[in-house]
Amino acid sequence: MTPQAESVLDLFRATGAYLEGHFRLTSGLHSPNYLQCALVLRHPSAAEDLGRRLAAQLRAMVAEPVALVVSPALGGLIIGHEVARALGTPFLFTERDPDTRKMLLRRGFTVRPGDTVVVVEDVITTGGSTRDVVDTLHAAGARVLAAGSIIDRSGGTADVGVPRVALATLQVATHRPEECPLCREGVPVVKPGSRPA
Ligand code: ZN
Repeated sequence: MTPQAESVLDLFRATGAYLEGHFRLTSGLHSPNYLQCALVLRHPSAAEDLGRRLAAQLRAMVAEPVALVVSPALGGLIIGHEVARALGTPFLFTERDPDTRKMLLRRGFTVRPGDTVVVVEDVITTGGSTRDVVDTLHAAGARVLAAGSIIDRSGGTADVGVPRVALATLQVATHRPEECPLCREGVPVVKPGSRPA
């Protein structure tokens, strides 16, 4: 693991954001641990620090100026805002339509054809949310230069259709429910952030 990734994980440990147990992730997969970014990002100084670091990596990756940072709500809101602050750009966010689950720009947010955008999320597991944001932006004519996240839980394998960076890349054990060893042992599964059922 890189020194940068170590220092990011140290920050998670120090703020109680590294959880152990039996978790059902948004992707539907089960995992024995979970990084709860909200617990790190509740500290504005930590959020600012992570945002600066991610902005620096994104800047190093893209050859042209970034016009906008866009993140999927809710997870991407705080870190996306901090990256935008560090890059000196506006910040927009997308939301899923509650009925169609389609990722949308609402609240009067618009992008113009040709706008150069980076997409920022807190954690990438399968890359699904980031990919949906990228698709929404492409449909609006924007040029998505890159995507970034604080944590990459995919071990670097998630493909979001554009170049991607993460402050810490982890190979986290995830299981489909029918193959989950913790389920087999009868350990109650919880959605991260909620109490055991
Ligand atoms: Zn399980």
